[in-house]
Formats: sequence, structure tokens, C-alpha cells
Amino acid sequence: MKTELFDLKGRVAIVTGGNGGIGLGIARGLADAGADIAVVGRNEEKSKAAAAELAGRGVRAIAVTADVTAKEAVAGMVDQVARELGRIDILVNNAGINIRKPPHALEIEEWSSVIDTNLTSAFLCSRAVHPLMKAAGGGKVINIGSMMSIFGASFAPAYAASKGGIVQFTRSCACAWAADNIQANAILPGWIDTDLTKRARVEIGGLHERVLARTPAARWGAIDDFAGIAVFLASSASAFVTGAAIPVDGGYSIMS
Ligand code: NDP
Repeated sequence: MKTELFDLKGRVAIVTGGNGGIGLGIARGLADAGADIAVVGRNEEKSKAAAAELAGRGVRAIAVTADVTAKEAVAGMVDQVARELGRIDILVNNAGINIRKPPHALEIEEWSSVIDTNLTSAFLCSRAVHPLMKAAGGGKVINIGSMMSIFGASFAPAYAASKGGIVQFTRSCACAWAADNIQANAILPGWIDTDLTKRARVEIGGLHERVLARTPAARWGAIDDFAGIAVFLASSASAFVTGAAIPVDGGYSIMS
């Protein structure tokens, strides 16, 4: 096998929510394959710390403070990355939140905040990078879905709607931008140990044990489990893969 297939030297990646959790796991993988990284988040301190860690892996890494739900902030973020790192080849739409309530208890503001963060942000960021990728002759968009792209959950109506939507948005970008040599794919994480799920384990009784029992791999995922799939989807190894939604879940989604 030619390892150049996975080489990302000279490429520039934006990772939204790259300052922690799954986004940081992805950013580490892309950096280890040689890509320069822009970490995007609202928490400047956390983003700077992540960028410093990534720079320690021998690539250029910058922290960009932006709320990805805001159109102007996204435009400014993309301008800053293009200015400071010179190009944009890879966009990872990873920023996400959840508000755990059943549908009848969810306020419209809560619904909108989850949809805006998990779904509209991917539209805004993808639309903003498209002209640069097209002009450069190609690019890679990687969107982060969830098991709730497939399954419903009584406690996550807006989250599940946003994650179902992200898969259909991915497929639409894949169709629209194939002629521009831009591949768009989604990763569907299973249950992963991050800040997002630490609270879920407290809020949902028995969740920890249920996940272990339901996952053939018999463990929760770790953020570094996302390095390999991210490098594959960001590199020329996946040149003919587009519109896919790939579970990274230890088998959770195929267990009856
Ligand atoms: P974390 O809470 O650890 O990370 C979420 C990240 O999103 C943070 O870096 C946060 O940075 C960023 N973020 C949130 N809102 C915004 C915003 N408005 N603008 C910019 N950045 C924002 O969560 P995970 O790592 O667990 O989740 C990452 C993705 O993976 C999400 O899309 C989540 O839905 C998905 N996922 C996670 C699973 C899991 O089990 N953990 C399972 C399935 C999917 P900051 O606070 O600085 O803004």
C-alpha cells in the first residue's frame, strides 16, 4: 500500500469544536498525517491550548475564536484561516451540543440552539469554504453525525433531528460538489467518552452499563478512535468515497 495516499502534508484543515473531545481527536490525527490545523471554538483559552498541543506535533496550528452559528463569525473565521494558513483543503464540521429533554418539555429556544449549533453551522461553514475549495481544484468536507442520525431517542428530539439532518445535508453536498472534486462524508460516532457524555452519564441513570452491554466492542469510544477515519476521509485515499455515513461505534449500530 502506498502511504502517500494518506499524506496530508501541505493541506490545511479547519476543525470546528477542535479544542476538545472528538474534534481534538480528529485534529490530532490530521496533524499526525501532516496537515496544518485551525481549531475553531468559542472558548479562546481552550482553543489556544489545543493549538499549542497540535503545534507540538510539528505542524502549523492556530486557534480561531468564533461562534459557528453566526454567519458573520463564520465568514470572518474562514477569512482568517485562509489569510494565516494560506488555503483551506479540509473542513470538519464537528461543533455540537445537546439539550436532554423529551419533545413535550423542549422550549423553542432550546430546539433552535441545538439545530443551529449542530446543523446550521455545518451549512454555514461548508458554504463559506466551497468557493476556496472549488478554486483550488478540490476539497474534503467531513460532518459529524451520531447514532441518533439512525435511531431516535426520547430525551434528544432536537439533537436527533439535527443529526438526521446532517446526513442528508452531507449527501446533498456530495451530489452538488462532486463536479468540483469535493467529497463530503459523515462520521457517525457511537458513545464516546467526552465532556458531552460525562453529563449524560449523570443525567441518564444506567447509561454507562447499557452502552457497555449494547456495544460489541464492550467499551466506550475514546477521542483518538477518530484519528484514522478522519485521515482516510481527508486524504486522497477516499477520492471515490462521497456521501457516505460511516459509523465509528464499536458495532453499536449493528447489534440487535
Ligand atoms: P464536546 O462537548 O467535548 O465538544 C464540543 C465542541 O463543540 C467544543 O469544542 C465546543 O467548543 C464546540 N462548540 C460548541 N458550540 C459551538 C459554537 N456555537 N461555536 C463554535 N464551537 C462550538 O463534545 P464531543 O466531542 O462529544 O462532540 C463533538 C461532536 O461529536 C458533536 O457534534 C457531537 O454531537 C458529536 N457526537 C458525540 C458523541 C459522544 O458520544 N461524545 C456521540 C455522537 C456524536 P467551545 O465550547 O469552545 O465553543
